[in-house]
Amino acid sequence: MTARLFLARPLRGTVGETRRVCHLFPVPDEETARLVALCGDEFGPGQLEQLDRPAGMPCESCLGRVPRDRPEVGGA
Ligand SMILES: [Zn+2]
Repeated sequence: MTARLFLARPLRGTVGETRRVCHLFPVPDEETARLVALCGDEFGPGQLEQLDRPAGMPCESCLGRVPRDRPEVGGA
């Protein structure tokens, strides 16, 4: 099973400029009011702009949590 992900970042003005990084979000199975990035940051409606490709700074915490297609060698 491959998790579908999309990229989005907070809209200008919703957070400080230094926190406007590209987060990775799992595509929700159903309509949901709040979206939770892989790193755990939560966003409500109207707080995000979806991106077609990475732009600006990526969220390092999200990148480190991207699900792998293959099990990691030596993983639990
Ligand atoms: Zn993130």
